[in-house]
Amino acid sequence: MVYDLHVHINPHATEGEIYEYDTYAKMLHLDYVGFVIHYSPSMPEKLLRDFRDILSTFTTNALAGVELHYPIKKVPRGFDYYLLHFSNIMLDADLLKRFHSMIIAHPFAYGMRISDSLITLLKKNELAVEYNSSHYKNSMREFYNACKDQGIQITFGSDAHSPSEMGEGFDYASQYITPFNELKVVRGYSHE
Ligand SMILES: [Zn+2]
Ligand SMILES: [Zn+2]
Repeated sequence: MVYDLHVHINPHATEGEIYEYDTYAKMLHLDYVGFVIHYSPSMPEKLLRDFRDILSTFTTNALAGVELHYPIKKVPRGFDYYLLHFSNIMLDADLLKRFHSMIIAHPFAYGMRISDSLITLLKKNELAVEYNSSHYKNSMREFYNACKDQGIQITFGSDAHSPSEMGEGFDYASQYITPFNELKVVRGYSHE
């Protein structure tokens, strides 16, 4: 099942632009699309509502996610899934222990590092790692292999900032990524 859990959408774009996301999702045969916004606690409630309202009008299976930037002051409730964006930091056990059932977005991008020794902790806290096709480099192959071997959930995300970029790189990534129906980090959908 083809999915993309990292598609940025601007809820205040024109209606035409917004519906292009729905149209492209169908054209690209995406079974699920996870839309995200960069969250900040100062964000007006209305923006979050508009975001959800837009997705509810889509004919595609659309999920509502938020991308949280570390340090995180507040986690908004009620979203289908949460992406963690770290920058300029070496992740360690103390830090990772604070998160549960979330997705670590684009590992190794933006100066973030994570060592293989933390993989068991990821598993314990049901933390998934993202295979982000915009930030993927061949040097990350070993890391993803190690995650896969240890049964860590690997989600796919293109980091699209426009409709035509959705799903880009999915085929190449398919050897690593966890099938959609096995993703425990995505709530609100039945997993058999
Ligand atoms: Zn990010
Ligand atoms: Zn992003």
